[in-house]
Amino acid sequence: MTTITDQPTPAHVSAPDGERKVLLLKPRGFCAGVVRAVDIVRIALETFGAPIYVRKEIVHNRFVVNELAEKGAIFVEDIDQVPEGSRVIYSAHGVSPAVRQQSKDRNLRVIDATCPLVTKVHVEAVKFARQGYSLVLIGHRDHEEIEGTLGEAPDVTTVVSSAAEVAALEVPDPNRVAYLTQTTLSLDEARDMIEALKKKFPNIVGPHSQDICYATENRQVAVKNVAHQADLVLVVGSNNSSNSNRLVEVSRNLGTKGYLIDNSKAIRPEWLEGVATVAVTAGASAPEVLVEDVVKYLGSKGFGSVEEVEVMPENVRFGLPPEIVQAIQAAPSSPVSA
Ligand code: SF4
Repeated sequence: MTTITDQPTPAHVSAPDGERKVLLLKPRGFCAGVVRAVDIVRIALETFGAPIYVRKEIVHNRFVVNELAEKGAIFVEDIDQVPEGSRVIYSAHGVSPAVRQQSKDRNLRVIDATCPLVTKVHVEAVKFARQGYSLVLIGHRDHEEIEGTLGEAPDVTTVVSSAAEVAALEVPDPNRVAYLTQTTLSLDEARDMIEALKKKFPNIVGPHSQDICYATENRQVAVKNVAHQADLVLVVGSNNSSNSNRLVEVSRNLGTKGYLIDNSKAIRPEWLEGVATVAVTAGASAPEVLVEDVVKYLGSKGFGSVEEVEVMPENVRFGLPPEIVQAIQAAPSSPVSA
C-alpha cells in the first residue's frame, strides 16, 4: 500500500545515449510546512483518535487529503460544521482572526498547522496596520492563504493580483503604504508587481525578507535551471495548488511545454510524442509516491534512464506546535514519532 511519507526515488539509473530520459528535479515535492502539517494530522489521529476535524484541505493535494480522510480526519469548509467542543486543525494556509474567534465561540480545541512562514506574513500585516500603513497584499484573492492574511487587517488592506490592479490602486496617503505577498507566487511576477508598486509609491515599504517562501523559490529555480534541457516539464501537483501551478508557468514562460498532473493517469500519450527528455518535478504539497508513479509510467513508455538533477540542497525542518508536543509527552507509550 502506498503512503504519504516521503520515500526516496532512485537517484540515477543510466542508459545508453539516444534513449529517452527523465530528469528528476531536486528539490521537489513536500516542503517543511507540508511535512509539519501532515505530521500534525497524523499524530493527532494516533494520539487522540478519530474523528479529528480539519478546516479546509490540510494541504492542497487530493491524494494526501484522501489518505488522511481514510484514517479518520474529517475535512470541513467552515468552523460551524465542527461539533461544539471538538478538536479542529487549521490547515497549513492559515486562518483569519475571525475564524479563530468562531472556534473560541464554539469551544473548539484548536491545533494550528499554519505554516510558520505564513504566520510570519500575518505578523507583518498586523505590524504594518498598527503603524498606520495602507497595506497592499500581492496574491490571488480566492486563495485560502490570502483570505487568512487579509483578515488580519481587512480595513486597510487591498489585494492586488495584476499590474493593472496596481495601476488602479488608490490609498489615503501614498507616502504611507506597505506591501506583502502570498508565499507561493511566481518570483518573476511578484518582482514585476513590486517594481510597479515602487514606481507608483516611491516611499512604499516591504517585509525585511521576502514573503515568497524558500520552497516556492527553490522549486521555481530548479525548473528555470533545467527546463531548457527538456522537451517537456511535468509538474506533479493538484490543480488548486498555487505553487504547483506557478512551476508550470515558469516552464511555459521559458518556452518548454509544461503540464500539471495529479498522477501518472493524467499524462496524455500525445504529450510524449516526439519527446526525448522529460523533466519531472512536484509542487510543495505533492508526495514522493506520486512522483515515483510518474517515473515508473514514463519508464514503461521508453524513458529508460532517470537522472536526478539537484539544483540546490534543501534541509529546512519546522518544529511541531505545542498542542502536539504536549500530547506526545502526555502519551509516552504511544507509538507516534515526531
Ligand atoms: S509552500 Fe512555503 S509557505 Fe507553503 S507550507 Fe510550504 S514552506 Fe510553508
